[in-house]
Amino acid sequence: MSERLELPFPGDPFAPRRRPTRVVRVGDVALGGDNPIRIQSMTTTDTQDVAATVAQTERLAAAGCEIVRITAPSVRDAEALGEIRAELFRRGVRVPLVADIHFTPNAALVAAEHVEKVRINPGNFADKKKFEVRDYDDAQWDDELARVADRFRPLLRRCKELGRALRIGTNHGSLSDRVMNRYGDTPRGMVESALEFLDVCEDEGFYDVVFSMKASNPQVAIQAYRLLAALLSARARQGKPGDYPFHVGVTEAGDGEDGRIKSAIGIGSLLADGLGDTIRVSLTEDPVKEVPVARAIAQRVESRWADAERSRGALPDPGAPFVDDPYEHARRASECVASAAAVDAKPAQVLEIGGDAPVRAELSIGAPPTDPEAAAWRLADAFGARREVACEGLRLDVADEAALERVQPFAEALARHGVTAPLALQMSSELAPHAKDLAARWIVPVALDADVVTVSALARAAEAAGVALEWSLAGAATPSGPTAANALVAAVERAWEASRVLGHRRVLVSVEAERPVPALRLVAARMRALDWRAPIVLVHRSEHAASDESELLHASTDLGALLCDGIGDAVALPVRGGLERAGDALALAYRILQGARQRTTWTEFISCPSCGRTLFDLEETTARIKAQTQHLKGVKIAIMGCIVNGPGEMADADFGYVGSGPGVVNLYVGHDCVERHVPQAQADACLIDLIRRHGRWVEPE
Ligand code: SF4
Repeated sequence: MSERLELPFPGDPFAPRRRPTRVVRVGDVALGGDNPIRIQSMTTTDTQDVAATVAQTERLAAAGCEIVRITAPSVRDAEALGEIRAELFRRGVRVPLVADIHFTPNAALVAAEHVEKVRINPGNFADKKKFEVRDYDDAQWDDELARVADRFRPLLRRCKELGRALRIGTNHGSLSDRVMNRYGDTPRGMVESALEFLDVCEDEGFYDVVFSMKASNPQVAIQAYRLLAALLSARARQGKPGDYPFHVGVTEAGDGEDGRIKSAIGIGSLLADGLGDTIRVSLTEDPVKEVPVARAIAQRVESRWADAERSRGALPDPGAPFVDDPYEHARRASECVASAAAVDAKPAQVLEIGGDAPVRAELSIGAPPTDPEAAAWRLADAFGARREVACEGLRLDVADEAALERVQPFAEALARHGVTAPLALQMSSELAPHAKDLAARWIVPVALDADVVTVSALARAAEAAGVALEWSLAGAATPSGPTAANALVAAVERAWEASRVLGHRRVLVSVEAERPVPALRLVAARMRALDWRAPIVLVHRSEHAASDESELLHASTDLGALLCDGIGDAVALPVRGGLERAGDALALAYRILQGARQRTTWTEFISCPSCGRTLFDLEETTARIKAQTQHLKGVKIAIMGCIVNGPGEMADADFGYVGSGPGVVNLYVGHDCVERHVPQAQADACLIDLIRRHGRWVEPE
């Protein structure tokens, strides 16, 4: 296996700015440079069904899709692209087209005649992909590479003559046997595989290149794109071009909320770090539905990039990196803090946050209610409807003494209705000592001008009351400017100083920031420099005007990015639209934890978005299999439309359901095909039987 690379984070993790890239033209659309993030999608029709493909492309363009990809699995499909292009022009649709090529270099050459960009996958353009295990010595490696390069050069020469762009698109799980044997199915393997092809491009004087590094696991996608950016920067330092734009996506994200959450975590995190010039959200749905999701993710980050440009300046040095290794996920080390519910505490109500405890899910429900009985009943009812997830903490905003007086009756009403989540009270430092034993945790702001004596006295009061203390670092809306960043670092130090009187035990930290990703990274870095291991609570601040879908995307991006960095021991989401929706907010918290691969609650589905190769109705099949298997906590099931790319791209799935011909599927356990050509009518039952035979089946409740 290859040696580990020591590379710095690509860019500034505390004040991210857009990565400078060259402009690559795709027909009339320019991407990279200062251009807006371009939105892409892909048709799901049979490419040789010209009328259907034209109609779907037209619908995509009308929805705001700026670049449309169409699969070209054979030379005949590539020829059909000519008819599609001509018909679209005839209808006045000038949206640039991209031919998607796997395994067929001949089709790529034909496709280049008709479309504005060609996508190739280095894992299968001309290399072998048979999951073969063998060692390549250097001479064999070089021979294979030279053979692959020779197959690639004619395409590059033709693209150069015609002014076509090229995407070198690596996918996790679809690396060639050669690369897989040397680097494993890793982000490093993905990047090295792409850079080999870049060497050939540059050798041919071809520079209109865009890269992608997709994976169904957002963590893998994030690591691969970061690594690519870092290695391209290293090439630039050697005098080679390193500014190629990125096409960012999470592949096989699935459908519905889970598909949107996974996409927002992966794409949103990368864009937040300035990586990405064009994006595609892959959903197992009508591709037109991908466009508004992608647009919403892009627009939010574009406004943040603009703000970052306005607030340039030297930031404080936190004294340590925010993570050990930005190219490998590891949860930040923290001490475990245990806190008990104040009312009718039973052992089951003791909540541990940090240490080895799973990342917790809490809800912020606003002020203590004036009608405690009704509020407790509504919460109990909402939680009862989502029994698969448990609310592990309720956060209340206590603005004044009147609100404080409402806490006890509410806590008693909750206990009567069986809601056992410990309460955490957010209040001023003046009010906190009066809360005594009303709650398991006090959440108190650390103002920048608070003197250490006052804050230390508060810490002693918390200790005397036997409650945990969560320092809510104030004055930290965004660290993108030096003033706010200095304020945030000062707040960390003040809270750390005050926690000394407690020996730093039973203390947590949170930041309610407008830009939580850079803010929390700065906090984590400063805490690391102080060797302070208090657990960190990630609090999502709701944007009131946001629609439910925007809220889902924003929360997934902000919380997911930090969780993928290994930062966060609990997440706290607001309940929007009344307490009866508390179950939805809680489910969202758990779905984000699952999307970021922090905590598994449901079956993990990996389903491809479908394309012209698809052999069955993916949306309907995915929904049907989901309905029967979604209770299998911890099981990963892949549903893939074709046998050409499906087995490779289902990555780390435990079981696979892959179209192998019209009306038939192959079933997999890991990467091993165990049943071939099963008629679709029997395939669901066979899949369940397979899961059962491998000891992973449980009956639904
Ligand atoms: S796995 Fe799905 S999206 Fe990928 S090529 Fe096959 S059918 Fe198309």
